[in-house]
Amino acid sequence: NDKPSELKPPQMPAASQPRSRNSSVNGCISAQDFDFGRILGEGSYSTVMLARHRSTGKEYAIKVLDKGHLKRNNKLATALAEKNTLVRLGAGHPGIVHLHWTFQDEWSLFFVLDLARNGEIQSRISRLGSLSLACSRYYTAQLIDALEYMHNKGVIHRDLKPENLLLDDNFRLKLTDFGTGKILSSGVERSKTWVGTAQYISPELLDSSETSKSSDLWSLGCILFQMVSGRFAFQGLSEYLTWQKIKQLDYSFPEGFDEQAKDLVQKLLVRNPAERLGAGAPGSQNDMQALRAHPFLSTIDWKTLWTSPAPPLQ
Ligand code: ATP
Repeated sequence: NDKPSELKPPQMPAASQPRSRNSSVNGCISAQDFDFGRILGEGSYSTVMLARHRSTGKEYAIKVLDKGHLKRNNKLATALAEKNTLVRLGAGHPGIVHLHWTFQDEWSLFFVLDLARNGEIQSRISRLGSLSLACSRYYTAQLIDALEYMHNKGVIHRDLKPENLLLDDNFRLKLTDFGTGKILSSGVERSKTWVGTAQYISPELLDSSETSKSSDLWSLGCILFQMVSGRFAFQGLSEYLTWQKIKQLDYSFPEGFDEQAKDLVQKLLVRNPAERLGAGAPGSQNDMQALRAHPFLSTIDWKTLWTSPAPPLQ
């Protein structure tokens, strides 16, 4: 029976617990400090579980990564990169999942993360067909705010998509999955490996494997398109055909697509990364402030964006 018990994570026999070694971001902690509950989700190399911290009663999402599986698939570096990126981002922004501690035992790495109990925006879009304009506007604004923080910390996400936009108890956004995140040493990086998801990948990544902060703005345009219309901006019958559409900027808006949202999408889905709205250096004419000032977002109160109630999810 490989089902998780209510009290322990799956790959962790009781005998392993005393051997859990701490390599925490922040103080001394191990798996014995938590009661493990249900599985929240599974990734290619991980299982994410609900867990309650025994002494404080606080709930977290713990990502359990199987070391053997990581090693066999050459993914240890990816896991380490994810940890390093999350450490760099810290707890400074409410829209980014915070890594509280890490620890390990003989079999697994454990990342203790903020819990985003209401799951992925992707499943909300699938369930509802599309999101209301109020929701699309709200989550676009929260994503812009989180992106600006992240970019100012020198981090690009490189795999933004509705599956990586989680919702917390208050239906506010929590950006996650920094496994493909990149800490920038210069403004533009050439990727050694292909990263990203077909429908959201930017043309410059396809053409020359170059990424910059602006690649995340391209993905933002794809996500806004999808929230409003319920379908991908770029979708071919195969991955290859999807990429062709991206390179040729071959997409069209369904009838009735809100005009202001359309204008914003058109200003983000621009082939030249430097010309995307918000892509300029801070303080320049085309900085993130210019993106925030777009008419589609004119009703957003940026000061209360993370404290006022989210619009009803519909
Ligand atoms: P892959 O590794 O294949 O790209 P992934 O990055 O989505 O997948 P994980 O980050 O391990 O993999 O997440 C797996 C699933 O667990 C997610 O799809 C999400 O539904 C859920 N999940 C991840 N983090 C949290 C969290 N902090 N709170 C709640 N649920 C989460």
